[in-house]
Amino acid sequence: AKADGRGTHRFYHEDMLEGARHRKALEDDLRGALARGEFHVVYQPVVATRDASVVGFEALVRWDHPLRGPVSPGEFIPIAEESGLIEPIGEWVLRTAAAEAAKWPGEVRVAVNVSPIQFANAQLPTIVASALANSGLAPQRLELEITEGVFLNESASSDAMFASLKRLGVRLALDDFGTGYSSLGYLRKAPFDKIKIDQSFVRGAAVTGNRNAAIIQAIVTLATTLGMETTAEGVEIQDEIALIAGLGCSHIQGFVYGRPMLADQAAALAAEGKAA
Ligand code: C2E
Ligand code: CA
Ligand code: CA
Ligand code: CA
Repeated sequence: AKADGRGTHRFYHEDMLEGARHRKALEDDLRGALARGEFHVVYQPVVATRDASVVGFEALVRWDHPLRGPVSPGEFIPIAEESGLIEPIGEWVLRTAAAEAAKWPGEVRVAVNVSPIQFANAQLPTIVASALANSGLAPQRLELEITEGVFLNESASSDAMFASLKRLGVRLALDDFGTGYSSLGYLRKAPFDKIKIDQSFVRGAAVTGNRNAAIIQAIVTLATTLGMETTAEGVEIQDEIALIAGLGCSHIQGFVYGRPMLADQAAALAAEGKAA
């Protein structure tokens, strides 16, 4: 397809058109997906580094497209955000995760991703309160994962939002730490209970001489000093568990302890207590 210069240009243009058409088609399909029951939620274990006990699960949305099959959230969440559809979808994930987690044993927590679009909606605390009330889930068992994206339009209203959410008694986690426009100022201002260290830092950190280990170490020291927990994300191999433990990270999440699973399987694993 790229045999000559003119061809390269023409095909590039067609690829872009094709991409835009694909996006538009997904957006159209996304519009009715909630009503058609095409979403479900899966749960990935979060484990205490100390003893490999399962302390919670992260809720991750899945879309089963009737023709395309599973579409990854990496593909459809940005489209949902640009079209505003993330608001009803995100609310559905929150209510579903709260209802399913309320059936899990003990103090096992559920973490739910909250898009910056949802965070900018003044109704969010009301929606969270309603999800807690309807499910009967204790507030301290719900953790909201927020990315640095919420700070892009930093304003007095984001301070008010953090305060309202904390008043409900839910936990707050700063997701994908280190990948965006990280500013240490965010950590000073916002009342996070946990920092999630992005998997790009974990990747390769067990290799001798890798700078990622030094970065993880610095993040853990900072978080611990500020009284926050830390979760290393995307931990895939045993060598990485040992390294993460050595760096003092309090929690581990990744394929090494479990892939995202259905709510019933999560309930069973929570009852067992250990992921190892
Ligand atoms: P995230 O919040 O950083 O979620 C973690 C992602 O890493 C998940 O991908 C998970 O399956 C994957 N992962 C976990 N352990 C490992 C590992 O050991 N190795 C590798 N290679 N990957 C691992 P997933 O489910 O495809 O989700 C991708 C992103 O989509 C999420 O990243 C999050 O940003 C977004 N997302 C998913 N569900 C929701 C949702 O309900 N609401 C919103 N707003 N965003 C969501
Ligand atoms: Ca997350
Ligand atoms: Ca993350
Ligand atoms: Ca991510």
